Amino acid sequence: MSQRIVTLISEEDIAARVKELGRQITEEYRGRNLVLVCVLKGSFVFTSDLARAIDLPMRIEFLGVRSYGEGTTTSGVVQITQDLSRPIEGEDILIVEDIIDTGLTIAHLLDLFRTRRPNSIKVCALLHKPSRTRIQVPIDYLGFTIKDAFVVGYGLDWAEKYRNLPSISLVESD
Ligand code: 5GP
Repeated sequence: MSQRIVTLISEEDIAARVKELGRQITEEYRGRNLVLVCVLKGSFVFTSDLARAIDLPMRIEFLGVRSYGEGTTTSGVVQITQDLSRPIEGEDILIVEDIIDTGLTIAHLLDLFRTRRPNSIKVCALLHKPSRTRIQVPIDYLGFTIKDAFVVGYGLDWAEKYRNLPSISLVESD
């Protein structure tokens, strides 16, 4: 069985959308204590481009999560494998997620961070699959809405492969 990589969202379209999100975030966070929280591993590419599209002083934190699920779906049971390096009390937290699928992971992270008393907490997601929603979560900044398909590239993996593809792609088998 061979696999074909089919582009869903091109490198150019991603770059243009990330620049727009960066401009919007720059306007809305001027004068505040912005902390980007990169949810590892899938968000590492998006976070690095988004951070450079935001023209403000900021702190960048990395959060390691592992979610237990069957195959390519999540159970919503999220284990923190690497926590933030500093407290976030009084700060303006922007969680940067690669993709919101069922919503269970981000709902868990919002609950966790709220207990740490930040000044504000918002979500920026590159991708959203609304057809798979199991729990409604606010997505304050969104790159693209996509259909129900498993995607790879631009940080997203399939069994740790394809994270370095510059586009968001589908893996098709034939
Ligand atoms: P949720 O808890 O919203 O169901 O799942 C969120 C996590 O599941 C994402 O951060 C991502 O790690 C993984 N995920 C969901 N859909 C996809 C997909 O289409 N491709 C990849 N590579 N990961 C996905």
